[in-house]
Amino acid sequence: MLAPVTLEEQLTAARRSRLRVLVVGAGVAGVTLAQYLRAAGLDPVLVERRDADADAGYMLGLMPLVEPPLAHLGVREAYRERSVPVRRYAVRNRFGRPLRQYSLGSLLEFGDYRGISRGDLLAALAHAGGAVSYRTTVTGLRQQADVVRTVLSDGAGETTAEFDAVIAADGLHSTIRAMVLATDQVTGYDTGWHGWVGWAEPDDAPDLYEECWGAGFFLGMYPVKGRIGVFVGGPRSATAPGAPAFVGRVRRQLQASDPRMDRALTATAVGHDVHSWSLTDVRAATWSADRVGLVGDAAAGFLPTAGVGAAMAMESAAVLGRSLAEATPASVADALRRYEALQRPRVQAAQQNSRVLARLMFRRSSPAAVARDVAARFVTLDRAVAPIRRLLSDRPDSRLVAAR
Ligand SMILES: Cc1cc2nc3c(=O)[nH]c(=O)nc-3n(C[C@H](O)[C@H](O)[C@H](O)COP(=O)(O)OP(=O)(O)OC[C@H]3O[C@@H](n4cnc5c(N)ncnc54)[C@H](O)[C@@H]3O)c2cc1C
Repeated sequence: MLAPVTLEEQLTAARRSRLRVLVVGAGVAGVTLAQYLRAAGLDPVLVERRDADADAGYMLGLMPLVEPPLAHLGVREAYRERSVPVRRYAVRNRFGRPLRQYSLGSLLEFGDYRGISRGDLLAALAHAGGAVSYRTTVTGLRQQADVVRTVLSDGAGETTAEFDAVIAADGLHSTIRAMVLATDQVTGYDTGWHGWVGWAEPDDAPDLYEECWGAGFFLGMYPVKGRIGVFVGGPRSATAPGAPAFVGRVRRQLQASDPRMDRALTATAVGHDVHSWSLTDVRAATWSADRVGLVGDAAAGFLPTAGVGAAMAMESAAVLGRSLAEATPASVADALRRYEALQRPRVQAAQQNSRVLARLMFRRSSPAAVARDVAARFVTLDRAVAPIRRLLSDRPDSRLVAAR
């Protein structure tokens, strides 16, 4: 687990570090990056806007792309203990009737596909420990020739500090990105859909991911250790009345009864830890501005449709971590550009895949849903996961070595 410390403690350690790096955001990308830098002997400052006891968030299905970073950080076992293997994936039609079930065996030649809560993933990544300052953020940032001057705010007051590099790992709605890029350098894709994420009780099929592709609704059920993550969503015009009303609407369309779907819908309608989510993504035209770099969703924020955003965030953080670990204060901008050249095309290809899937999964009308249900019967798993297989067979570690 990360150890909460004061900002001043982290700043004192960072002043002695051969490269002073500020990582903003202790999410999937930020924690991976901080741990990479620590493993390389640096003392990055890691700050997080939220409280230490903020909830575990939502469920994540992680592609085998995460194996190299986990192995590098020595946390593979910690990850496996906190996650479950996903071996089957089933799709239901617009009435909730089974449409097709796939075995994920053909993906597994590259490693396991596993389900984990975001909180458990962060705990596994931070298994070796390391410092973080919660309730802390950046309120000012100015790039100078050889340093970035920042103003950090931790609730108790403001502190000015200088860094050789500042990394925005502050997610989809990154404020650091807004400080360094022009508005027209940030674009996005809006599905027009919105939904809720919640948790349901576990059942006797912890290895089964299940989705119900409706006409004007989508229901996903994704087991993690000890519970099932649920996503229910639809077009914004239909979800506007709120979760209980929308869940009632979904129930009226379902013609097949299923205990898992029933519990999932109830949990979303009445659950306490249900989060509202707008299904939009974001893409930054450049991932670096002099000494400030972007990583994870701050650089390319994903729709959850392909289930690959967190894996790509970890992979990018690993590539960035390696690049920065070799940098000197004078070569930071080059290191950031090298990271971007390696990773941006790959991440944007994965992001494009999640946009294509969104168009398939989120259908409003019955005729469109019927056409999709028919097509889904003939799509083999090999074809559906072809873009992911391409990512898996061309991992960045080899290209990083080749680029040197
Ligand atoms: C419902 C849902 C389901 C998903 N399912 C999957 C899946 O199955 N598989 C998958 O691979 N991906 C999935 N994703 C995508 C994945 O979660 C993201 O791509 C991934 O978490 C990105 O990591 P990140 O570190 O960039 O952002 P985050 O994990 O969001 O972390 C950003 C952190 O920065 C902090 N922060 C924000 N602003 C500031 C600030 N100004 N100062 C300090 N801290 C700040 C935030 O509090 C947060 O802790 C899903 C996403 C959602 C929403």
